[in-house]
Amino acid sequence: MKVVHLDNNATTRVDPEVVEAMLPLLTHQFGNPSSAHGFGALAGAALKNARGQLQALIGAEFDDEITFTSGGTESDNAAILSALEVMPDRTEIVTSAVEHPAVLTLCAHLEETRRVRVHRIPVDSHGRLDVDAYRAALSPNVAIVSIMWANNETGTIFPVAKLAELAKEVGALFHTDAVQAVGKLPIDLKSTAIDMLSLSSHKLHGPKGAGALFVKRTVRFHSLIKGGHQESDRRAGTENTPGIVGLGMAAELALKFMDGETRRIKRLRDRLEKGLLQRVPNTFVNGDPLERLPNTTNITFEFIQGNGILKLLDREGIACSYGSACTSGCSEPSHVLSAMKIPHGAVRFSFARDNDQEDVDRVLEVLPAIVEKLRDAPVSGPDRRITEELQCVAGLSARRTGDHS
Ligand code: PLP
Repeated sequence: MKVVHLDNNATTRVDPEVVEAMLPLLTHQFGNPSSAHGFGALAGAALKNARGQLQALIGAEFDDEITFTSGGTESDNAAILSALEVMPDRTEIVTSAVEHPAVLTLCAHLEETRRVRVHRIPVDSHGRLDVDAYRAALSPNVAIVSIMWANNETGTIFPVAKLAELAKEVGALFHTDAVQAVGKLPIDLKSTAIDMLSLSSHKLHGPKGAGALFVKRTVRFHSLIKGGHQESDRRAGTENTPGIVGLGMAAELALKFMDGETRRIKRLRDRLEKGLLQRVPNTFVNGDPLERLPNTTNITFEFIQGNGILKLLDREGIACSYGSACTSGCSEPSHVLSAMKIPHGAVRFSFARDNDQEDVDRVLEVLPAIVEKLRDAPVSGPDRRITEELQCVAGLSARRTGDHS
């Protein structure tokens, strides 16, 4: 059975060209970039090349604005913690209610341990930021605003360039978690007021455990990790040279494929969306209908929870992901769907370069029957034949059980 991977917002397959680029760093070019000999110089040159590849992808003005990290989570943490250190008089953070846990968990921790005040800006039912609430939260007490470029669950895109300009008016730094946007949307940081941006290699066909933080040259920065002088004192620790070279090549390929592939992927996503809405009644798409990542669709199938669909699709060799507002113990509720006040569970399908029409057709072939089966599963009485698992995966709906979870 051909595996259909439609969970590319979780992670992507490493591109074979990326693997090829990494191999020398894992074999004969094993030098430490900080060493003062030929091996070191080779590794150093590889890092410089990767920095240039990333600079091109995100439109940074200078390559030294890019600091390599272990991934999106570290970059998000480093940006926020640095802002609090360089502006000790400012004790507030503005973020959104739908950020990734890499931001929200840190903010909650800072609230508890450092008495930092956190403003979590709400979103509407399409996942769009409440810009009035955002404006109201901005003040000279704010050290940093951290708002994602695009949401990982729904694909909703935030107007970060405009939000950054508003943050500047009160002298706050503006950071964006662009982990889901980089490689999917054209980005030109030179033309924005964005101070810091986080990205992650494994979301764009690069290896896991590598990422970067863009820090504008004019922004003061304090390193999260203390130690040696690597990365111009911005991130101590010997660089993950194979991972970084892989990230660089992934960035180069993302730029090369940006136009054509983005359009092709969007067509696939739209075909799936349209096909499901036509074939399955009581179904709707979550997220901004227009300002949305071209590869992402998040679909609610009313009366059942997303994780039931997910498990049955998995048995068919189809990998996708769920966002659930369920509180019945079947799954963790999605803070994103909860913030959008979406009462039912949902399924996220996220595409990437290696998906094709066959993948879409396979989902359209099997999913309508799965939804029907779950919706028809008996919920009580002696004839109940469903197993414990199916009972859970059936995600007993509020409407059918009266349980408003
Ligand atoms: N931010 C967003 C929006 C993400 O989607 C993810 C990963 O899912 C991260 C941050 C964390 O990135 P990493 O897995 O590289 O730590």
